[in-house]
Amino acid sequence: MKFGGTSVGSPERIKSVVNLVNDGKPKIVVLSAMSGTTNSLVKISELFYAGNNKEAIAEIDQLEDKYKTVINELYSTEENRKRASEFITRHFNSLRNFSKSPFTYIDECTVLAQGELFSTTLTWLYCEELGIDSVLLPALNFMRIDRNGEPDSYYIREQIGRELKLYPDVKLFITQGFICKGANGEISNLKRGGSDYSASLIGNAIDADEIQIWTDIDGFHNNDPRYVKDTKAIRELSFSEAAELAYFGAKILHPASVWPAQEADIPLLLKNTMEPEAPGTIISSKTVTEGIKAIAAKDNITAIKIKSGRMLMAYGFLRKVFEVFENYQTPIDMITTSEIAVSLTIDNTVHLDKIIRELQLYGNVGVDRKMTIICIVGNNIMHSKDSISKVFKALKDVPVRMVSYGGSRHNISILTDSEHKLEALNQLNKYLFTDRGNRHNRPRRN
Ligand code: ASP
Ligand code: MG
Repeated sequence: MKFGGTSVGSPERIKSVVNLVNDGKPKIVVLSAMSGTTNSLVKISELFYAGNNKEAIAEIDQLEDKYKTVINELYSTEENRKRASEFITRHFNSLRNFSKSPFTYIDECTVLAQGELFSTTLTWLYCEELGIDSVLLPALNFMRIDRNGEPDSYYIREQIGRELKLYPDVKLFITQGFICKGANGEISNLKRGGSDYSASLIGNAIDADEIQIWTDIDGFHNNDPRYVKDTKAIRELSFSEAAELAYFGAKILHPASVWPAQEADIPLLLKNTMEPEAPGTIISSKTVTEGIKAIAAKDNITAIKIKSGRMLMAYGFLRKVFEVFENYQTPIDMITTSEIAVSLTIDNTVHLDKIIRELQLYGNVGVDRKMTIICIVGNNIMHSKDSISKVFKALKDVPVRMVSYGGSRHNISILTDSEHKLEALNQLNKYLFTDRGNRHNRPRRN
């Protein structure tokens, strides 16, 4: 069971999490940092990098004060307040020490790791206070990534198995999401939002019956609730549908957390901590329902067009183009081609200038920024005859820059200018999820 930042965001929330997990069933609880903490730690790191030690320490003081308040409210005995305070103080003091020497990447990872160390230690101490038998498992003893930044599945499985064997009678384990060791044993992490990934990797490693991700919304919604009114929670998704939705913008789940569950065929359940009885979304291999299920949007997309007479009837052209992106480790999201041009999209623009320069060797290159991919997802979307026609009807007034259809059976992707996103999401919602979209097909009753 993984709980996100808001779910452990205050003493009250921590108490309800403990209440929720304390049901006697064996489980590993994976916690994120309390909400706001990782952002604050990122800021502290940036200030240290910039040599702005005074401001870094001011930010550290402020964060420490916040934790002092949490400790006072969370525990009822002086003894526990003291234990928690000692732990917190020791860690905050070690953060202040980073002002004494040049700040390195390892230092940054050490700073970023504190949030999860705090939330898990405080939660575990609270279990102690209630007399709940639990063990705090250090994620750094078993979570590891390799040289490519990929999880070292074999190591994780071995090590967590070894750790758990030490406590044959314990039912409740608490561990940190997000943090891990790197290939050389140095401290590292699974990147922002990585606690979901931790939970899913752990579920895979221990062959869990279920992986539960607890957040502050009742599962995946059929459209983005930030931009569209009356969206609905989706009860069931297949792994592929969930992977597409998570990747293309639905912020609720870290996209990488789908594959470990899928690989081990473990159902992945998304639940709402604020409403634990609500069914949430279940992602599993048993989901076979077909048709359009959800729409998601991913912003900050850059479209690149390479137009070349030389592409005409040539082979090897696309390979050369793709090689440029490979050399700069830049993933491509969408592609469309015509006989003389290829358009594709990227979301990581760190190497864009160099990429463009190399692509110019092969033809004219055009770049469109501030684009949005709108992704329409559903099992066998291709076989439901009217899906694509409904999508085009919905988008009749939206300038569409690219369309990708047929890449998989369960996805239609549309690229448009970000300024048209709101309209596109709402029009699609109307045509795909309400009967208003079908109305004009029916004979008029006058
Ligand atoms: N605390 C980390 C973050 O804010 C990891 C997570 O919450 O998943 O990115
Ligand atoms: Mg998260």
